[in-house]
Order: sequence, then structure tokens, then C-alpha cells
Amino acid sequence: MQYEAVIGMEVHVELATASKMFCGCRADFFGHDPNTLVCPVCMGYPGVLPVINEQAVEYATRVGLSLGCEIAPFSKFDRKNYTYPDLPKGYQVSQYDLPICRDGWLEVDLDGSRKRIGIRRVHMEEDTAKEFHTGDSSLIDYNRSGVPLLEIVTEPDIRSGEEARQFLTKLRTILRYLGVSTADMEKGAMRCEPNVSVRPAGSAEMGVKIEIKNLNSFRVVKMAIEYEIERQTAVIEAGGTIEQVTMGWNERENRTVLQRSKEFAEDYRYFPEPDLPPLVLAREYVEAVRSGLPELPDAKRARFEDQYGLKPADAELLASDAEVSDYYEDCSAAAEPHGVDAQTVCNWVVGELFRLLNEADTSIAESPVGPQALSNLLSLVKRGTINANTGKGVLMEMFRTGRDAEAIIAEKGLSQISSAGALREVAEQVIRDNPDPVSQYLGGKDSVLGFLIGQVMRQTGGKANPHVVRELLRERLSAQRDE
Ligand code: ADP
Ligand code: ZN
Ligand code: MG
Repeated sequence: MQYEAVIGMEVHVELATASKMFCGCRADFFGHDPNTLVCPVCMGYPGVLPVINEQAVEYATRVGLSLGCEIAPFSKFDRKNYTYPDLPKGYQVSQYDLPICRDGWLEVDLDGSRKRIGIRRVHMEEDTAKEFHTGDSSLIDYNRSGVPLLEIVTEPDIRSGEEARQFLTKLRTILRYLGVSTADMEKGAMRCEPNVSVRPAGSAEMGVKIEIKNLNSFRVVKMAIEYEIERQTAVIEAGGTIEQVTMGWNERENRTVLQRSKEFAEDYRYFPEPDLPPLVLAREYVEAVRSGLPELPDAKRARFEDQYGLKPADAELLASDAEVSDYYEDCSAAAEPHGVDAQTVCNWVVGELFRLLNEADTSIAESPVGPQALSNLLSLVKRGTINANTGKGVLMEMFRTGRDAEAIIAEKGLSQISSAGALREVAEQVIRDNPDPVSQYLGGKDSVLGFLIGQVMRQTGGKANPHVVRELLRERLSAQRDE
């Protein structure tokens, strides 16, 4: 029998607001001394009064609108009750039956076709404190307690580990475009919990799902899903049944492991948070947020193909990061008046520049070579002041020193030699020094020309204009052939 996987995703996202969800404490806790960003509200003292963070509401609205959700005109907060050391109040403020956003979708690319993954809901809640287990003691840091979180829950529309990875990658790009989160998984700003079940292919009923927690990269999400699909399929094929449990991922053994069985499933006894008013959003408010949304990745990719005539894969690559696409557009705009075409700019950005950024482990926003400086370099190549190959070396030097292209070219005397007069003598010398290749060429082996061009380039320290050299050699050699 054929089986198919059914997967739904729960994603938690820490919002990059200035302050926490219900108090004035700083929200960007990363790198701060433990328990320094706290107050009676986020420490859960009795008798305090929480206040809803307006920026968090706006960020949630931005995300909801970008995922095609309905934004609820009326929503509310609820208490989710449970006891744990990382939860000082003994409950987490979340949204239960009336979330701020519902019924949206996100489109992913799958081998050329596009597929919509339904978004069931997006709701606001608060993060817990952070625990550290060292030897026989446990430490707790409340800086993260009360940091705004969004929980994004999909419909069970995902069918494979790869689809899940695509979904998460796209979601992360959108979150970063919107500027609502760093969405950095390594720092816990984005956490993904897949729910996985397996059923006979074509069946309308869903199988029993298991949930996988504590996955720290998209790669691991994909591996864990694939592992679970195989495991569950094997159990069902052997006539067994799947139990609804929570699993974790064992890094060393590359397999899922039982974390919590259903008997311990908690009843959170949700009830409306009495200290917070319901959240009532006027249509005008929602429309104002909508009109402030940036161009989103899909729209930008389409525009890049259209406006710049880029290859689809290049448009996709550039549009997958807002900083990269901004850099590209700035560079193109500066280079265009000098006749440098948009695809050439793209080739340099995704080729040479990406390589240098990678090696230096730097983001494009911190590139020592800005878009204006790169456009200057490309104009010099276009004008023929240097050839493309020398340009690559100059870019490396610009990257290393932060100096501009002209200064480096002048100091190192890299200007391209384009005058036939200056190159004729070198070309003739190369012809005299290489009698065998020359006679091969004269005998009809055209490809030998490339070797001879290379010799001239070497003699000139790479500075000769290769087009001029090619013409010169052709002309000299055909004169010999005629002799
Ligand atoms: P829970 O109450 O256990 O968290 P929900 O019904 O809220 O479960 O769903 C949580 C996530 O699991 C959603 O993303 C949903 O699409 C997905 N899901 C629900 N049922 C299944 C199933 N049988 N198989 C796979 N995923 C499922
Ligand atoms: Zn606080
Ligand atoms: Mg769940």
C-alpha cells in the first residue's frame, strides 16, 4: 500500500519590539546579563497591571496581512495555566479562541509548481524565562520572560520534509522583510514544531499525529520529519498503531525520541485574562497597517524579472533577502547610466561579492564595498579601463582595504592596455616563441588561439585587453598563412 504524510506546523516567532509584551522592559535581551531586564510585571508579582504592547499588535497585524489572513476586529487574551519554573506567574498570557489573525495562506515553490499552505491562525502571546542546566543545579534568567511572541499555526497541508523546509524558508524571508523579527533560529527567535502523521494515500481521514519539539535548524526539521514518516509508515505496515505523543530530536543518533506521552497531556484551563481589555481594531487601523507594508518577496521577484530582465533563478536569489535586493537595486541604479546592464551587476553581486562576503563571514549590509563603490568598478570595466579579470582582483583589494577602485588601479598601474601599438610587439614575440602552437593553428586547429592569447596576457601581467589581443593575433597569423 502507498502512504502519504500529513504535516502541520506550529511556529513561534519572537518579535523585535522595543519593549516586552505587557511591560516596559527591553525586549532585545540577547547578550545581556541574566535577570537585568526585569520588573514586577514580567517577574509575575501579584497585584501588578499588564498593558498591551501596541508595537506587538502592529507587528502581528503586519504578519497576518502578509499571510493573507483576516484580521479580527475583536480578539482577546487568555490565560494558559500551567506550573513550570520558567513561568513565574503560573500562567502564560496567550490568545485562545479569538486570535488576532486567521485563515491565511503562504505559497511555496515545488519543482516549478506553486502550492498554497493554509495558515489556520496567528496569535500573540508572551515568551517564558530561560533555563540553564549546569551539573546538578539549574539556573534561570527572566530577561526573556514576557518578550512578545507570535504563534503561527498552519493547516495540515504540508506533505514532505522538503515542503516543510520551503515553507519555513519563505516564512522567514517574509518576517525579515517586514522587520518584525530577526527570525534567527540559532538564537531561538524562530522555533518550529512540526506535527506529523501518515495515512493511506488518497484517504480522507487523518492519522494520529505526533509533535516534534526543540528543532534548531530547518535542516533538522526536514530530517526529523523524514525520519518520522519512515518510522510511522513502518509501524502501520507492521499492523501497529501510532500513539499521540510529543517527541524530541536526538542530534547524535539522528532520530526522534519520546519526550512526553499523552497521559501527561495537560489541561490548561484557559480563561479570559481579566487584567487586559479585549483588543478592538478599527478597519482604518488595519488599512493603515496594510498601506505601510513593504513589497513582499514574490512581488519583488516578479518585478526583478520584469524590470531588470534577470534570469528567474537570479531574481529569486536576490529577492530572498531584503538587504541583498536593496544593495542590488542601489548598485544597478548607479551603474545603469554608465551602460552597465542589470544582469552584469547581478552576476558580480551573486558571484564575486557573495564569495567575498562568505569568506569574511559578513552580511551584505556590512560589506566594505558598498553599492556605489561596486558600480564605479563595473563602470571602469565597462569603459575598458581594466578588463573583467583584473576587476575581480581590484574588487578583492577594495573589499580588503575599503579603498575605491580608481585609487587601487592607479597605484598598482592596472589600467588595461588597449592600444594595438603597445601590444603588437608582445604579440609578435609570442608568435616567434611558440612555433609549434603556431603551426598547429595554421594547420587549422583554431582552439590554439586561446593558448596564444593567454601567453600575451601573461606577458602583460593580465593587463592587455583580450579583445584587442585576439584581433592582433588573428591578423598577424593570417598574414603568415598568406606568406
Ligand atoms: P493541538 O491541539 O494538539 O496542538 P491542533 O489541532 O491545534 O493540535 O493542531 C496543531 C497543528 O497540527 C496544526 O498545524 C495542524 O494543522 C496540525 N495537525 C492537526 N492534525 C494533524 C494530523 N492528524 N496530522 C498532522 N498534522 C496535524
Ligand atoms: Zn518587565
Ligand atoms: Mg500543539
